[in-house]
Amino acid sequence: MGTTGEDFDVVVVGSGAGGLTAALAAGVAGLKAVVVEKTELFGGTSALSGGNVWAPNAPEFQRVGQKEDPEHVLDYLVKIAGDDVSTERLRRYVDEVPKMMELLESRHEAFEKRFIWAEDYSDYHPDQGGNPRGRGLWPPVVDKRRLGDDAQYLRGGKVRLPGAPKATWMTGIDLHDLIALRWGGLRGWKPVVRLAGRTVVTWVKRSDMATGGQALVARLYLALKQIGVPVWRNTPMQALVTDEGGRVIGVHVVRDGRPMRLTVRGGVILATGGFDHNAEMRHRYHPLIDHTWSAGSPDNTGDGIVAGEQVGAALELMDDAWWMPVMHLPNAFPLQVLERSYPGQFIVNSAGRRFVNEAAPYTDFVHVQLENHAAGVSHIPVFMITDDRAWKRNVIAFRLPGRKMPSDWLDSGLVSKADTLEELAAKIGVPPATLAETAERYNRFARAGRDDDFSRGESAYDNYYGDDSYPNPNLAPVDKPPFIAFRLLPGDLGTKGGLLTDSDARVLRMDGSVIHGLYATGNTSASIMGHDYAGPGATLGPAMTFGYVAANHIAAALRSAD
Ligand SMILES: Cc1cc2nc3c(=O)[nH]c(=O)nc-3n(C[C@H](O)[C@H](O)[C@H](O)COP(=O)(O)OP(=O)(O)OC[C@H]3O[C@@H](n4cnc5c(N)ncnc54)[C@H](O)[C@@H]3O)c2cc1C
Repeated sequence: MGTTGEDFDVVVVGSGAGGLTAALAAGVAGLKAVVVEKTELFGGTSALSGGNVWAPNAPEFQRVGQKEDPEHVLDYLVKIAGDDVSTERLRRYVDEVPKMMELLESRHEAFEKRFIWAEDYSDYHPDQGGNPRGRGLWPPVVDKRRLGDDAQYLRGGKVRLPGAPKATWMTGIDLHDLIALRWGGLRGWKPVVRLAGRTVVTWVKRSDMATGGQALVARLYLALKQIGVPVWRNTPMQALVTDEGGRVIGVHVVRDGRPMRLTVRGGVILATGGFDHNAEMRHRYHPLIDHTWSAGSPDNTGDGIVAGEQVGAALELMDDAWWMPVMHLPNAFPLQVLERSYPGQFIVNSAGRRFVNEAAPYTDFVHVQLENHAAGVSHIPVFMITDDRAWKRNVIAFRLPGRKMPSDWLDSGLVSKADTLEELAAKIGVPPATLAETAERYNRFARAGRDDDFSRGESAYDNYYGDDSYPNPNLAPVDKPPFIAFRLLPGDLGTKGGLLTDSDARVLRMDGSVIHGLYATGNTSASIMGHDYAGPGATLGPAMTFGYVAANHIAAALRSAD
């Protein structure tokens, strides 16, 4: 079978939010572009995600009166990431993210509804200049039927509470409101009524709603369709093509089983996600981690990173990831964003001791977990210790409060239950006397509403998913048997190390020189967040923004060459 070919201005590799935004910017700039996607499904991890986009000064923030001094935003980024990332790249992000969001909004047919401010979903470090009111935007929901036949190829699915009717759908805001309800009737049942009403309407109209990251990807895909930029599914990139001077001039792909060489006049934009599920790379860079704990898209195997490395690219931040504690349940690893903020739980290592502010931002939590593990005390897994009161009051692992615990949780030995803390300690293999001592100290702090060891509950971020019926929304005693222990593992939302890029998203060599014709964004590139995470949406925001930057850089270069 011979190789066929086709010429483009831009080839975008990968159909997550980074790739689709790059292709949109290229198409709007009048370039001949194509997106090649390895799998049958488009959307990558982006379509599995919450879809929150960290976008300070986006048009929506201007409309809701949350305009900020860009220097203030930059100062925050420099503080949290400046040791590892150039100020130039950070400044570029601050300057370009509002323009990228403007581009989306300008595609009226696909983005006919406004993005929604995740109000009070605080930046992750309000103590370092982060905004406690939040800089994240949720994408507006969309009926997938608008995608026509292509809807079946959109990756991802609905967030559903067990037992909820099929037609029920939830946004990030609904989830927050439902959790805050606490089933104690304290806040009224408004969110439940809202969900019930919506379920009926959805059922009557036979709608098929996409929310979160699926909605973001669906809308980007619609925008591409409207300007005629194709997305070729089942088309994995195999390798980059370079000329004798080292410039990237195309890609080898296999399209529906047939080898093809795509030649580019402008450049190739790599947006293939991270190496989340490349077992060999994970073992090399993250020896303590099992890739099955990652919530990243199963087909993200570092292809863009490997291809870039083969043409001489420098790699950075390979030891890091968008870490996320996950609960170890039979056949499931639910993310632990909410539960760690609830009062009425504390988390211990194998020595039975607390080691961190449980409610800390997820990536920080795992950083401490891994550092402590390396120091000699096992922190894989760690144990969330909770009690009957908290179980009956909170949504835990997507189960409504107080519902019977699934028998396989206990039968598998992954979740343990006991009438005393000492008994529980014996079941999970931590020293009983130490666990009792830890509980006693924690309960003292909880009753006083102040955590003298780890300052839990003192940040607006901690409080967001807390329970404000307590004086400290993140602290309540753990003293009502039976006690329960959940195992938590260091999972992730995807990896964050990859190809080193400059402020134009161009890929660099070790000596700092540019590999002409090659661009990278999203988790294929070394993150502009360095080892940190600015706030909700701080992975999608940069992925989309530097996709946009790359496409515009190519457009400008082609214009000046013509
Ligand atoms: C449950 C969950 C919730 C999250 N919530 C948020 C959130 O609310 N906000 C936020 O900012 N981040 C969130 N994240 C993280 C975020 O989703 C990712 O960091 C982001 O989607 C990465 O985008 P990307 O464009 O780099 O890659 P992806 O979206 O993963 O896209 C990469 C695409 O490239 C394709 N590909 C791979 N190899 C090849 C190849 N050889 N040829 C062609 N195509 C290839 C893949 O199949 C995939 O479709 C969440 C993640 C998870 C798992």
